[in-house]
Amino acid sequence: MMRRATVVVVALAAAMTTVVWDAGKAEPPPPPPPAATSAWAQLDAPARCASATALVSHRDRWPMVCRWREPGGVLQGQSFPPPTGPPPYDDPHIEIYVAPSQTREQLASVIAHELGHMHLTRDPAFVPEWLTARNLAAATTSDVWVEDYAEVFATLFGPSYDRWRAPTTGPGPDELARLRARFFA
Ligand SMILES: [Zn+2]
Repeated sequence: MMRRATVVVVALAAAMTTVVWDAGKAEPPPPPPPAATSAWAQLDAPARCASATALVSHRDRWPMVCRWREPGGVLQGQSFPPPTGPPPYDDPHIEIYVAPSQTREQLASVIAHELGHMHLTRDPAFVPEWLTARNLAAATTSDVWVEDYAEVFATLFGPSYDRWRAPTTGPGPDELARLRARFFA
């Protein structure tokens, strides 16, 4: 999500597990093996971001600030892209607000989305090209199409993660391949 962009609320479903054992046995069952996420659960927010970033295949990297999301917070991340033109830049970076319940894949997808915002060219001539390629109306507002662009980027370069977070319809496999060749080669 970019600054000023629409806030997307993500409801995270809590997985519940019920353990049942045969009450007729004299001995209780051994404790279940540690959950596969236990190592993940012990990582702090920056360490989770560092681990999740390894799942993003695009070579672009920017300074990243990661912290736990405040309880009740809905913002997953923000990008602070560089201005148009050559360096020096004014502290371009991304900020990621990690929810303890997010999996490594979910977090990687959020990071890829923000890296997509950072990758976006600031050339105004790019806008009609993107809108046409995505079959979006010429009057589509920037808060919609920049999220569409970031989600295409995250779909291409993030981990496989079945969620589309832009207010548009995600591309199918064929369209995705065409977008990759044209805009992300
Ligand atoms: Zn975004």
